[in-house]
Amino acid sequence: MIKRNSNFAKLSSRYLFREIENRRREFARNHPEAQLISLGIGDTTEPLPHSVTEALKAAAHRLGTREGYLGYSQEQGFQSLRKKISDIVYQTKIQPEEIFISDGAKCDIGRLQLLFGEGLSIAVQDPSYPVYIDGSILQGVKEIIPLPCTPENGFFPSLNSLPRVDLIYFCSPNNPTGAVATHAQLEELVHYAKKNQVLIIFDAAYASFIREAHLPRSIYEIKGAEEVAIETNSFSKWVGFTGVRLGWTVVPERLKYSDGTSIRSDWERLTTTLFNGASNIAQYGGLATLEIEGLQEADKILSFYLENAAILKESLLSQGCKVYGGDNAPYLWVSCEGTNSWELFQSWLENLHLVVTPGSGFGTYGEGFFRLSAFNSRENILIAKERLRVNLKMNSIQNYGY
Ligand code: PLP
Repeated sequence: MIKRNSNFAKLSSRYLFREIENRRREFARNHPEAQLISLGIGDTTEPLPHSVTEALKAAAHRLGTREGYLGYSQEQGFQSLRKKISDIVYQTKIQPEEIFISDGAKCDIGRLQLLFGEGLSIAVQDPSYPVYIDGSILQGVKEIIPLPCTPENGFFPSLNSLPRVDLIYFCSPNNPTGAVATHAQLEELVHYAKKNQVLIIFDAAYASFIREAHLPRSIYEIKGAEEVAIETNSFSKWVGFTGVRLGWTVVPERLKYSDGTSIRSDWERLTTTLFNGASNIAQYGGLATLEIEGLQEADKILSFYLENAAILKESLLSQGCKVYGGDNAPYLWVSCEGTNSWELFQSWLENLHLVVTPGSGFGTYGEGFFRLSAFNSRENILIAKERLRVNLKMNSIQNYGY
């Protein structure tokens, strides 16, 4: 029989969210009376904006008519959508031809890794979204250098001591820490990449949560980034398309391999070879999102999640917890105050009936922290707040670790 790709054996045994789900299910089976609230997985909860669902409905309806039927379309996405993203997200700084529409950022991160083959040295923020590392392992990465991101360094890694790498993954606003890199920090990153000829894959999947105008929403706000960075983004968290599936990746014209050939051309080739384009219905939804009404409706939902984050943050801070993020991101990063993060997970599950995400699942430097997600109904957030108020008052956060 065919041999297994030996890289599968190098993956850590269980995908983080599957392990959380297994533990949650087991607890729920043994305690059917418990009203569990998940503050764990970062999936959106609020219904889609009205103008977007109308566009999705109309698109589906058109497909049922002879005149409106569409089969395959451009693998790179509707020209109209590429143009709208260029205009609205990048204020025309990025050209439509540099924007490739996809079925989501995660899928693109996986495909992007094919551009560079095996044997790469990569650097990854630690903690980070697990897909960068797991996807790289499957592609036969040679070396993975963690870039510690901690409260002590303001969640921005020190680049001075970094050995030579081919590629840096960087995510801002960050999952899981909720930290947003400042303009000066991204300038430092771009400067480092230029000086050392390193490619950056910049994950901006949470950019729409940035409320403070001085914080960069795209790596291309930094001068010269088009020569060193690919950016991936998504409609998932912006407008609730986690199930609808729509995203995009920017591969600038000026970005070249070490031999001077165009990375954009290879990406175009790759998308035509391995990808047949995003769903046309989803793309009509994307177009509607970028209309004034869609943008306003999406913004209301984003503000709602940010209010959830603020409620949880205030509640934890008032109990004396150390909490980071949540101001321009849907995630709070909470210190376990010396407790192991899976123990804290288990204890909050059993005692508070709250499901959190253990920080250690995001990397070595995530140990000692846990992530809370603001993707939830207001009702659940207020119940969670009340449980925290009653229980943390009587017990310190550490006591919930044992
Ligand atoms: N990037 C980050 C940092 C994420 O947290 C997620 C999803 O949680 C994604 C990408 C995936 O986005 P998409 O739904 O577009 O695949």
